[in-house]
Amino acid sequence: MNTFSDDELDRYARHIVLPQVGGVGQRKLKAASVAIIGAGGIGSASIPALAGAGIGKLTIIDDGEVERSNLQRQPIFRDDRIGQPKAKLAAEFAQALNPHIEAIAIQQRLDSSNVAELIGGHDLILDGSDNFATRLTVSDCATRVHIPLVSAAAVQFQGQIGLYRGWEADKPCYRCFVGDAFDSDDCDTCAEQGVLGALSATVGSFGALMTIRAIVGIGEDVAGSLYLFDGTELEWRKIRLPKNPGCTTCG
Ligand SMILES: [Zn+2]
Repeated sequence: MNTFSDDELDRYARHIVLPQVGGVGQRKLKAASVAIIGAGGIGSASIPALAGAGIGKLTIIDDGEVERSNLQRQPIFRDDRIGQPKAKLAAEFAQALNPHIEAIAIQQRLDSSNVAELIGGHDLILDGSDNFATRLTVSDCATRVHIPLVSAAAVQFQGQIGLYRGWEADKPCYRCFVGDAFDSDDCDTCAEQGVLGALSATVGSFGALMTIRAIVGIGEDVAGSLYLFDGTELEWRKIRLPKNPGCTTCG
């Protein structure tokens, strides 16, 4: 069992006093490894939350460079870093925030040829990528190798977040929800349709909360529920997703 240094006890004091976390929960966070797909608007909120929370190993996968149009919603980057690789900068941010964790940058485009290698071995995947093709590729692999997946998306004023364990008999996978029509859809929805920065931050923070709940074991198991947030009405909705018996991945 790993123990905490004085620095860590001080750093995580507000977690450890929580009855739902405590020293036991904090050790689970330290022992956990999470792969984050995409250092974009969702990653910019979830990466600081998970690094600060003391997730022991964070793998950040993104093949892009910082663009000026990212900065409206991606506050882990800075104006003077435009043009530099996002995965490396995001990992440096996480490592500087919390030297007790291990933050790994992978500057690669995730696709079906490398997904198993990139996400394999992690305890949970948090997917904040910006297109259906990547989200489906990640979900299919996570379902195959039995890694829980938090899939989060934000566009305009709408957010949706779900936790998936599609290999279980009564739980849907992400493909049960979206079907097979979007596998070749790799358009950047944010570029085409816009997204409010504070909305993507809300969704990213919610995804981090869902991740921490799942790792520590807080509250009810929400796998198979989809959370929808409307940023114009300021309303959350929760819907239960059915497993699709004809799903090409988990059916
Ligand atoms: Zn499915």
